[in-house]
Amino acid sequence: MASFDPWAATLERLDDAAKLAGLDSDIHRLLRTPRRVLEVSVPVRMDDGRVEVFIGWRVHHDTTRGPAKGGIRFHPQLDAREVAALAANMTFKTAVVNIPFGGGKGGVRCDPGRFSAGELERLTRRYATEISPILGPDRDVPAPDVNTDGRVMAWLMDTLSMMWGGGANPGAVTGKPLSIGGTRSHAGATASGVLSCIRAAFTEMDMSFVGARAVLQGFGKVGGPLAFLLASGGMRVIGVSDVGGAVYNPGGLDPSALAGHVDRAGTVAGFDAGDPIAPDDLWELECELVVPAALEGAVDEHAASRLGGRVIVEAANAPTTLEADAVLDRRDIVVVPDILANAGGVTVSYFEWAQSRQGFAWEEGLVANRLRASMDTAFTSVWARADALGVSLRRAAYVIAVERVAEAIAARGLFP
Ligand code: NAD
Repeated sequence: MASFDPWAATLERLDDAAKLAGLDSDIHRLLRTPRRVLEVSVPVRMDDGRVEVFIGWRVHHDTTRGPAKGGIRFHPQLDAREVAALAANMTFKTAVVNIPFGGGKGGVRCDPGRFSAGELERLTRRYATEISPILGPDRDVPAPDVNTDGRVMAWLMDTLSMMWGGGANPGAVTGKPLSIGGTRSHAGATASGVLSCIRAAFTEMDMSFVGARAVLQGFGKVGGPLAFLLASGGMRVIGVSDVGGAVYNPGGLDPSALAGHVDRAGTVAGFDAGDPIAPDDLWELECELVVPAALEGAVDEHAASRLGGRVIVEAANAPTTLEADAVLDRRDIVVVPDILANAGGVTVSYFEWAQSRQGFAWEEGLVANRLRASMDTAFTSVWARADALGVSLRRAAYVIAVERVAEAIAARGLFP
């Protein structure tokens, strides 16, 4: 996993889709280079009086279909290639669910776990200031990602609003708290979208959802709510891992008891209504559904060759390596790819942006119904295209995405 290069993997998937779709070679070349990469230094006065200098980025991969859209990540191993890959995948994700955005991503290389609230706020506000020249409701609309949340988005929105003249500018950021123009149903949006894909895949494969066994890697903002949704729909969640360990119960883990344990212990490890297992052995558990909801590159060749499930639904971004994809294909394991499976989050971000710009808040039911309709439409078109081309769902999703982006590029033409 140390050698996993997300930008190289993204280019390989783009090249494959370009070939399958017969993409115009000029447009293909255009998509192989991010439109704009901004690298910034982020000096922060720490609580002990010293100044630490962090490195941050904001990347626009493509903005032909609309403003760049993508999260902000605070992580100690973040680098420019990873941010570029995540930005490109946002271009393809927003195209697969057909929402009027391009692809962007950003973040700061730092370990937020060691910051006080004051340090985190100063880092966020300085980073927001540094990248502000390329942000705005019509240019680039950030959202939360790994280690950022509604609080960070509120600081970002406030900093931008102050810089731009003081008035509240809710359309500048999504994933905001409800009190400053956030949307209802933001919290569980990604998990709800993943659930729609799981239900649709099970229906297509004539598999029963009720009674099926599921294994989850990650019990955070996506994996946690998803475990509830699966169990309340009648699935048995038999194995869950997180950064601290893994638990197994063939009769099904109780997600609310597990969440209570995680609240107290900070990890699923040590949960007494299940048996401890090695996190790596999770992949081998015989089951119907596997959901990676944690790390990039988590399903490698080794995990793929031992995988005990029939369907993988990628809640995480880029959890499957290129080598693993080939193994899974050979083993006839169906993979619902990240750019489709976890697109519920960005879809509800789109709804939030639309509400912020309308100045009109939608009811919870409207958000949920439109999310379900959007995910079902996207799933159906990817499944049908995969069938027509005789390729994996991932390859079909990339084909649909590059076709939509290419159509927009061709329609707008090349400036000047
Ligand atoms: P999170 O930080 O809330 O949770 C991450 C989970 O992964 C935690 O349970 C953590 O313990 C676990 N984890 C970390 N390292 C691990 C390891 N080595 N082995 C096993 N588990 C490990 O993050 P999240 O928001 O739930 O995001 C998870 C994934 O989903 C990321 O890839 C993210 O990019 C993707 N994603 C999230 C959203 C969203 O709405 N939050 C939307 C789209 C995609």
